[in-house]
Amino acid sequence: MAKFSLPVLVIAASATRVWASCAYGTHLFPRAEEGGAVEIKTFGYAGTIGPLNWAALDGGAANVKCATGTRQSPIDMVDGVFQMVSASDLELAIADMPEGTEFENLGTTIEVVGKGGTLKVGGKTYEFQQFHFHLPSEHLDNGTSIAMEMHMVWQSAEGEIAVIGVFVDLDNGAGAGAGAAATVAAAAEGGAFGGVQGFVTLPMTRAAGVSSNLLETVLSRAQEIATPGTAVKTQPLVMSELVNTLIAGSFQSYSGSLTTPPCSENVLWLVSTQKLQIRTATFEKARSVIGFNSRYPQNTPGQPNLLAVGAASAASAQAAEGVPAAKA
Ligand SMILES: [Zn+2]
Repeated sequence: MAKFSLPVLVIAASATRVWASCAYGTHLFPRAEEGGAVEIKTFGYAGTIGPLNWAALDGGAANVKCATGTRQSPIDMVDGVFQMVSASDLELAIADMPEGTEFENLGTTIEVVGKGGTLKVGGKTYEFQQFHFHLPSEHLDNGTSIAMEMHMVWQSAEGEIAVIGVFVDLDNGAGAGAGAAATVAAAAEGGAFGGVQGFVTLPMTRAAGVSSNLLETVLSRAQEIATPGTAVKTQPLVMSELVNTLIAGSFQSYSGSLTTPPCSENVLWLVSTQKLQIRTATFEKARSVIGFNSRYPQNTPGQPNLLAVGAASAASAQAAEGVPAAKA
């Protein structure tokens, strides 16, 4: 059994401002009753509302960890930064949702509300809250960005947060057998575009069984919640396929943070070694709504926050700017 030493998460959550955060639906950011208003973003991913400036957005110290925390997420998942947790070291159960559930556009992500589930790991029990998506992936898979990343958010009775991260890649049809190759490349005719290669993509109807049924069911309706603050009821959701996929692999675990303001630390991360796949057309629907919502990779856990590194770097270069260069 893997051992985790996780101090109780104590957060002074603002009572007056609700952030559309990775932790939406937890004690940090309680969700309105079903059918109630969906809170939308007050932070973003580009310019002055982007992650380089998240610490300043609150006007106080609520988001200070975004700029000073030394165990921030996401990170590059390379050997040495995580501890492998095998499926036999945890218990994972998520209730099916035969009645469907809420699928919401929070402005900063699109999120599916959970209807019960339990994660037991490291001697602690967490309840399933919600899952949402980042595009492209926030964690890097040994240096590589993946098309999307799903975050499944859990909370213990003591308010501790655990997140299962799952990479979501494009289904290229390869798993459906040689006869089902979905993409063919054809040389374009000569003429005005002579020499240019033309790529023709065929429908992926033969790739069934490769892409995640759960993600196809949810994300194929993304464009119905294109407007931030809107919600729709999903079709019935079967969660067992996802659970079975996850427990067939292992989890890369480390202690990190929320990847959105307030960037609270002591978050237990479990990044699955199992990747899910979605069809390209489904990915494009999700992308048209999500756009871009990925925080830049943070420093190795335990090393200085990259904003502090960057500030020192800028100060050093500015100081050097006034000093005449050595004569040749
Ligand atoms: Zn997230």
